[in-house]
Amino acid sequence: MHITRRRPDTRQGSAEEFTGTVWLDEIAVPEAPSRLRVFNVHFTPSARTAWHLHPHGQVLHILAGEGLVQCKGGEVQEVRAGDTVWIEPDEWHWHGAGPRTSMTHLAVTEAAEDDTVAVWGCHVSAADYPG
Ligand code: MN
Repeated sequence: MHITRRRPDTRQGSAEEFTGTVWLDEIAVPEAPSRLRVFNVHFTPSARTAWHLHPHGQVLHILAGEGLVQCKGGEVQEVRAGDTVWIEPDEWHWHGAGPRTSMTHLAVTEAAEDDTVAVWGCHVSAADYPG
């Protein structure tokens, strides 16, 4: 058993992986053999991830605010506090805040055998982002 009180500093999402201002807090990144990765991710209004996939899928649990999720070929879906989203393995998708609302979610991901958590693609263009 292990209790963590002092966490690493909040870091800002990189411009390669995100559009707009996104803050990430590492909640749980346990040692092998666990491959669990848990982050608290705060998106400011209109901030979002780039298109990406997770080899073993991902759970998103919305903690606060209102946001958007889209899978390739599907509609943009609205999500809000209390919603839980399952992203299928290898499914291209993006997630983020709404155009005028912030959104915070817990991101729970299992890394692949080679430690890959996500594969990143292109940004979600302003033309493809609602609002
Ligand atoms: Mn994702």
